[in-house]
Amino acid sequence: MPSKINLILNDFVALFFPNICIGCKGPLPNGLKHICTGCQYELPKTNNYKEEVPHIYQKLAGSIRFNHMLAYLHFQKKGIVQHILHELKYNHNEDVGLMMGRWYGHDLLLGGFSNEFDLIIPVPLHPSKQRKRGYNQSEAFANGLSEVLKVEVCIGLRRVTASETQTRKSRAERLENVKAIFEAVDPVELKKKRVLLVDDVITTGATLLACGNVLIDAGVEELSFGVLASTY
Ligand SMILES: [Zn+2]
Repeated sequence: MPSKINLILNDFVALFFPNICIGCKGPLPNGLKHICTGCQYELPKTNNYKEEVPHIYQKLAGSIRFNHMLAYLHFQKKGIVQHILHELKYNHNEDVGLMMGRWYGHDLLLGGFSNEFDLIIPVPLHPSKQRKRGYNQSEAFANGLSEVLKVEVCIGLRRVTASETQTRKSRAERLENVKAIFEAVDPVELKKKRVLLVDDVITTGATLLACGNVLIDAGVEELSFGVLASTY
């Protein structure tokens, strides 16, 4: 937690260094974007490309047949990952999603994921939401992964109805609510493909499950999940 003095200092420094780190709010040296080297080093990585992390794997285990359940970071309230997601979703910072995708892509390459997927498919936003935001944050993350893994991004899913606000609902109600609100844009292009379905964050897993079922119905060969952050 930064002290008051630090915050005041940071504000002062920000006058001269307009770019500040999303994590520590300190000034960013020239040439660095969004996150300083210290915060990059301390990112709460799950490292689950090395081995499966049980609490992440179990969010969807038994609900659907899948190959990999990949999550880059652990979400912690008020921590750097929350700040990153906030930037990405509410602060028009599409570029931070792209950067996270690139960073995770490099980890995945080191983990042996160089030839695991044929297509990367982002979870779609409702069109009205995407118009308002100007971009789909999951697609930004997907684009970063795509650049490094050399796997094509395919806008293979779309939302068919608006979902009501999810926050005050029980898990069962949420699962019901997202059911059947996604469909394949062109099922033929998904057939026999090894697909990495990508979202910004996994909480209950209901959205990934709904999208995953559509992909399996379309005849994908293998389904894997890749998210920027996972809650506990
Ligand atoms: Zn920092």
